[in-house]
Amino acid sequence: MALQDDLRAQLIKQFAADVVEVTEAPDKVYYACPTCKRPVSRGNDKCTSCGQALNWSSISKEEYARVGMKMATLSFEVPGDFAKSDCRKCPLSYITKREGQNMYDCPLNMRNKCPLEFKEA
Ligand SMILES: [Zn+2]
Repeated sequence: MALQDDLRAQLIKQFAADVVEVTEAPDKVYYACPTCKRPVSRGNDKCTSCGQALNWSSISKEEYARVGMKMATLSFEVPGDFAKSDCRKCPLSYITKREGQNMYDCPLNMRNKCPLEFKEA
């Protein structure tokens, strides 16, 4: 049985699998075998560690979670004339009092470095 399973695994590895581009840190990107996750050098048609056939034509991306932090993305509609840091028109903003005046503030504290990105709805 074990031999058969082994044979099967070997056969499956002959089908080229997409190489994984691993981003461990912004300046630390490498290619890895999708089966054993070990680094592979660009252009190798086989993983030197486990024999997995590699497909370089569509590389899948994988990002290692940074310990303690992860990114959240939220999509919502804004008026067509909305611009970055235009908290008055931002649906996330709330009204706060500062120096006796009502003003719109950012719940993410990003008023002056608004991270919003826009695309046509
Ligand atoms: Zn491998």
